[in-house]
Amino acid sequence: MGSLLHRYRNLSLRAKFALPIALFVVLLFGALIPGVLYLHTRTVLDGARERGLDLTKIFAHSSVQAVVSDDFLALRQIINSMASEQDVLYAMILDPSGRLLVHSDMRQAGQTYTDELSKSATQATAPLVQEAKVGAIRMYDFAVPIYVLNERRAVARLGISLEREWAGIRRMGGLILGLGVLALAMGLALATWLARSVTRPMHELAEGAEEIAAGNLSRVIAVRERDEVGRLGETFNRMARSLKARGEIDRDLSSTLDLTSVLETITRHSRDVLGADIACVAAVNPGTKAATMVSIAGARTDALQDLKVPAGRGLGGEVLATGRAVAVVDCSKDPRIAEEHSDLLRREGIVSTLVVPISRKGHTTGLLYVANRRATVFGRQDEDTLNHLAAQAAIAIENARLYEEVTKHAEDLENKVEERTQELQEINRRLEAASRHKSEFLANMSHELRTPLNAIIGFTRLVMRRSKEVLPAKQYENLEKINLSADQLLLLINDVLDLSKVEAGKMDVRPVSFQLESMIDVCLRTVEPMVKPEQIHLAKDLEPDLPQLVTDQDKLKQIVMNLLSNAIKFTETGTITVSARRQGERVSVAVTDPGMGIPEDARELIFEEFRQVDSSSTRRHGGTGLGLSISRHFARLLGGDITVQSRLGRGSTFTLTIPMRYEHEPIAPEASPMALKPTVSAHHGKVMLAIDDDPDAIYLLRENLGDAGYRVVGALGGDEGLEKARALRPFAITLDLLMAHRNGWDVLRDLKADPVTMGIPVIVISVVDNKESAYRLGAFDYLVKPFDREAILRALERIPPPGRGRTAVGG
Ligand code: ADP
Repeated sequence: MGSLLHRYRNLSLRAKFALPIALFVVLLFGALIPGVLYLHTRTVLDGARERGLDLTKIFAHSSVQAVVSDDFLALRQIINSMASEQDVLYAMILDPSGRLLVHSDMRQAGQTYTDELSKSATQATAPLVQEAKVGAIRMYDFAVPIYVLNERRAVARLGISLEREWAGIRRMGGLILGLGVLALAMGLALATWLARSVTRPMHELAEGAEEIAAGNLSRVIAVRERDEVGRLGETFNRMARSLKARGEIDRDLSSTLDLTSVLETITRHSRDVLGADIACVAAVNPGTKAATMVSIAGARTDALQDLKVPAGRGLGGEVLATGRAVAVVDCSKDPRIAEEHSDLLRREGIVSTLVVPISRKGHTTGLLYVANRRATVFGRQDEDTLNHLAAQAAIAIENARLYEEVTKHAEDLENKVEERTQELQEINRRLEAASRHKSEFLANMSHELRTPLNAIIGFTRLVMRRSKEVLPAKQYENLEKINLSADQLLLLINDVLDLSKVEAGKMDVRPVSFQLESMIDVCLRTVEPMVKPEQIHLAKDLEPDLPQLVTDQDKLKQIVMNLLSNAIKFTETGTITVSARRQGERVSVAVTDPGMGIPEDARELIFEEFRQVDSSSTRRHGGTGLGLSISRHFARLLGGDITVQSRLGRGSTFTLTIPMRYEHEPIAPEASPMALKPTVSAHHGKVMLAIDDDPDAIYLLRENLGDAGYRVVGALGGDEGLEKARALRPFAITLDLLMAHRNGWDVLRDLKADPVTMGIPVIVISVVDNKESAYRLGAFDYLVKPFDREAILRALERIPPPGRGRTAVGG
């Protein structure tokens, strides 16, 4: 039952309508047809029965005389006339015992009837009717007793066939059945039609609603009737129209954030949706609280553009004040219309209007108007629609305003960023210029400082060498102090210059191939004079078969020298060890000392420029605080680094790790100066040409080399030098690189380009350490100022005598 009900609920409306009607029609005819048939049969049979009974009574009555008188002839006549009656099957007279007296069928004579029917017929006191069947024939059997003086003398029986009646009944039944089926079919058809006609609009409505729900807002439901379904259809159509309009508004509004376009969209759609002649938006000015027209659609004149809505005055003022919509059917008669507005409205021909507030978060920010040039009653529905549009407008207007603000902020920000970028670029330019100036200044200053410093050192050493015997010991010590201080100052200047070069990225790496072990030996030998053998012992712990390195030998040497001199400086007593190990494709060189150690918090700081553990140690040990910084810069330049491990009071280990092969630049050939081809030069004894723009430098050379058998001829500039070289063809030339008028590099190039001078060995003596370039240009040797007398003499000694192959030796 439950499932039947459930199925019924799921049926379509048409089926729900058609099913009960069809059921009713079927039940009606199902009951009606048999009923009618039954009644008809009964009527026909009852008629036949009445007629039969009447005939039997007449038969009995007419037979009384003949029975009383036993007149069989008369009886036969009566029976014959009875039997000739229509439908009479037989007629007979029985005596009370059932014995046949006369029978219409002569063959029955002498029979006695003892069957049930005959028994009840002979015993009956009133007329008797029984239905019977003889073969296939249905019949009525009538029996009427014949009384004479209250004595039952005989029974008259008549058999009347019902075949005719039944034939009629069958005909009639067929007719009724036919008519009934016809009526049933018509009834069902009627039910179906009725159901369809009632449900079709609903079906269409349902289909339309489904399509609308699926997003087809253009679907219009056909409305034929003005009944409830028709009204529902109309409502649906209106709803779809409204949804469509809102959808279009949403689409249009979301496609732009430009305030003017947003306002135009709102007025245009408001006009369309409400079918109005004019629509406009007035915006409230936050300062004055009054509203002014900002967008108008459908106006014919520019009258409305001047419309201003003061707070609290006129129709708009009322809406602004109350926040509720106001509709006016006839503007010319409405007292709420402000006087100054009446004229504007008349010029535009406005008769009716509807105004709603545009509100956002409880604040009325504007007004939305629709107006008609004909009298119009704006109803509840129009107000709702316009209110909805106003709500959309409020959001869109706010979004547009926010967007405007954000855009403005972004523009401001962009401008500020641009300004700041320009400022920064300017600062950067200035910084770059400052840095360039600083480097130039440092380069110039170091040159300017080094020239007199070299002179001081040179002269001091000269005086010390020549006057050691004559000078009082105290004076000699003073000279030693001068020499030491000047050396330190020179060291500092060189360090500062190195640092500025590294920082400016101008420090070149000149890789050469060399043996690490021999380089370490040179370093150890160099620092040896600095240690007191009774206090400090220098040791080396090198892995056997250390590989050949290809890297900047000068820089590596400078690092190791710095680590070694630090170790010596900060160690009182013990063994300082230089160790070297191979680590894959790298080598590590460590300098370990048992000295004072470095506190943990200073272990990184000491690698920064001018940083020392404490300044008192500087006073004690000297130093600039630049050594480690430069060393680390160099180590990194070579693709490695320096680390430190230390325990306070126990000593330190500085470990340098670098790749065995410096990979960034093509490898220069073996670090040997270019072989010099001896030229046949006129030998003027041991004449030396010194080209230097500093007369002191020439003087010092002359003084230092004079007593070694060299005659030094000076040239105070490049051009003079070239001239003298050609004229004198000296044994050797010393050349300063940084000269005021003519660069030493150019002079070297010219000397090597001139066939007359190209064979003369040139020893470069300069403050700049740029050996490789000098060798490449053909220099015989390279000494860094302040020159050491012994070093220059060693170089000169290496020059082979004229006529023999002069082979240059690198240094
Ligand atoms: P400088 O030695 O010229 O002062 P460095 O940059 O070479 O400059 O060293 C910076 C500081 O690091 C030193 O002043 C010293 O305080 C500390 N330092 C360097 N090497 C050692 C060492 N082997 N033992 C103890 N302290 C050291």
